[in-house]
Amino acid sequence: MSPLKIYECANLAPYAAADSASRGRVYPVSAHPFRSPYQRDVARIIHATAFRRLQHKTQVFVVHEGDHYRTRLTHTLEAAQITRTIARALQLNEDLAEAIALSHDLGHPPFGHSGEQTMNELMREHGGFGHNAHGLRIVEVLESRYRKHPGLNLSYEVREAFVRHPTQHFIRGVGAEFNLKEGVLLEAQITFLADEIAYDNHDLDDGLAAGILHEEALGELALWRQAQENVGAVYAELPAVLKRSETIRRLVDFLTTDLICTTAENIRAAGLTSLAAVREQRELCVVHSPAVQKNKAELQAYLQVNFYQHERVLLKTKRAQKILADLFSAYLQTPEKMPETFRARISTVGLPRVVCDYIAGMTDPFAEVEHARVCGDGQFEKD
Ligand code: MG
Repeated sequence: MSPLKIYECANLAPYAAADSASRGRVYPVSAHPFRSPYQRDVARIIHATAFRRLQHKTQVFVVHEGDHYRTRLTHTLEAAQITRTIARALQLNEDLAEAIALSHDLGHPPFGHSGEQTMNELMREHGGFGHNAHGLRIVEVLESRYRKHPGLNLSYEVREAFVRHPTQHFIRGVGAEFNLKEGVLLEAQITFLADEIAYDNHDLDDGLAAGILHEEALGELALWRQAQENVGAVYAELPAVLKRSETIRRLVDFLTTDLICTTAENIRAAGLTSLAAVREQRELCVVHSPAVQKNKAELQAYLQVNFYQHERVLLKTKRAQKILADLFSAYLQTPEKMPETFRARISTVGLPRVVCDYIAGMTDPFAEVEHARVCGDGQFEKD
């Protein structure tokens, strides 16, 4: 048998983060005979407990509302697919970009964005909470899969991406080793917008499927109108489900193409001829064209009012906030109700952070069951 060999991503551009330029792992590992470092990161993420839990965490609809709506796991897979398309078209390191995309929502608490806001409010006096920074805590500290070290021991570039998102909430002390003044790798930047392309479109899809959004009303949005027109004259004759999917797949393609073309032009205009030049950049280089930015803002504002703040979605929000707040105070009062593996960290990071770690790791259904058990809200009261 011929000797095994590591094949790096082919045709990398000079501004890509090549495997050989990686700053490595905290705990050095010997090279694998045929898997590249970032391929190993992808594998480590997919095999993590936090990754599997994404299947039972809310994206917009709570998990039990219907089994064809997006969960945080399927959202993550869609974001990773779009990321890979963009990475390959721009000759970036596809393995690294995929690892960043697959891990980008690992730190999400149960119950979607309202869950995140609630955790941040509960932790206001104790260092705050944000899903990006918490994701870093998961891959560095909370995952327990290796005999020799805590966390997943991911490459520097994958971990760094958790604290480079432009709109994140920081957690005090988390990610302090990263230089926030350095330019953000293009492999990370593309995941920020692939995430948005994924959720803007799947939220349209889920919102229409649920009957919360209505196709006729979406005609007021420039992006929707344009995608609809691209379906052609057959549009009017299509059944509703095909109208939806034919329009949305064109919209995903249009936004992805716009992002690739605009970014390629920005890379050229900025003279990014090396990875060092990327690290010196002050502005994000991966952006949509001005016209699409404007139309995307219109779409996102529409979704905000008509979908995320729809009474059917908000109804679940209040319940979620109560569950998280009740659990938070219950564990603060009685830490023994948490598993020993969590309590062992109280002496190093303090009780509130341990309580936050435990709650943030829960899936939606587990939080419900735990609420019943710990807070006496149901049949598990006597446990
Ligand atoms: Mg996301």
